Amino acid sequence: MYNPNGDAVASKFTIERLSMSLTNHLDAALESLLGHAREAARNSYSPYSGFKVGAALRLTNGAVVTGANVENVSYGLTICAERSALVRAVAEFGPDIRISAVAVANLNNSPSPPCGACRQVLAEFILPEAAVVFPAASGMCILPFSEVLPLAFEMKLK
Ligand code: ZN
Repeated sequence: MYNPNGDAVASKFTIERLSMSLTNHLDAALESLLGHAREAARNSYSPYSGFKVGAALRLTNGAVVTGANVENVSYGLTICAERSALVRAVAEFGPDIRISAVAVANLNNSPSPPCGACRQVLAEFILPEAAVVFPAASGMCILPFSEVLPLAFEMKLK
């Protein structure tokens, strides 16, 4: 995620609400996925914020696809690690992919929950029960995607 200011006020409530889900015990699969995310963060292009974020997606076909944040001098064109990984996954495996787990990491020892934009974009391809693990203010947080983005936008025309 792209968060040059660290703790955004708007996310404070969310982080506190989620704190009940904090855990120090990741299972081996999620720990491995987190390792991929940390490795991906090393490729971050973040000359403006210095915030180096990586994301790793586990797909239902077993593949792991990673991404890193890629900043832009215009700031607004910056793409987060999560979306970077997602577009890479679609480009590599096609439009029928399904995501079974997501890990987000950064090299700044800062909280980095997926931003709202990434949550909505992930919603297009992710299983509701997929685990999402990310650094929160008080440690690693693991939540099912359905709790990471309740009430996702859906288009249902009548
Ligand atoms: Zn994002």
